[in-house]
Amino acid sequence: MPIQFACPSCQKQFRVADSMAGQQARCSCGQIVTVPGPKTQAAAPPSTPRSASFDRLLQEAQDAVAAKRAAEEAARAERAAAEAAKAAAQFAPHGRMVIKVPHRGGTVLVLALLGWFICPLLSLIAWNMGRGDLQKMDAGQMDDSGRGLTTAGKIIGMVTTLLFVLSFLAGGIGALFLFLNLK
Ligand SMILES: [Zn+2]
Repeated sequence: MPIQFACPSCQKQFRVADSMAGQQARCSCGQIVTVPGPKTQAAAPPSTPRSASFDRLLQEAQDAVAAKRAAEEAARAERAAAEAAKAAAQFAPHGRMVIKVPHRGGTVLVLALLGWFICPLLSLIAWNMGRGDLQKMDAGQMDDSGRGLTTAGKIIGMVTTLLFVLSFLAGGIGALFLFLNLK
């Protein structure tokens, strides 16, 4: 399809081949004229669809990257939620927000033993503490890794207390017996 155009200076009409598009020529009036591109090309330059599809590919690539990033973000959030749920389950076995307090197994055991050597009142305290702490462990309110120590302290405290009470009674009865015999 030949290109048709007019000289901007003298309005003389030209018809040239497609291959002349973009080239410069001198008109008979002396004006340098640039041959315009064919009408079809001017209406729809071939670079437009190419760049449009390139843009689309670029957009798709960016969308894919964004989608992957969003998926990673979602997975990370899910992991964090699972972690939080696990922690909550550990602290709240009955759906209640209960913070587990550390156990006092060592203290209970030491008090019970001191009661044996120093004052039976300490054993009574150890027995009570141990009993209360074991109940808290059963209720899930206390760290139950100290269950062994606490149980040992409770039993020693109980035995020491009971032995003291028995020996006190025995001593009292013995004294009374002695007193009655001496009379
Ligand atoms: Zn001209």
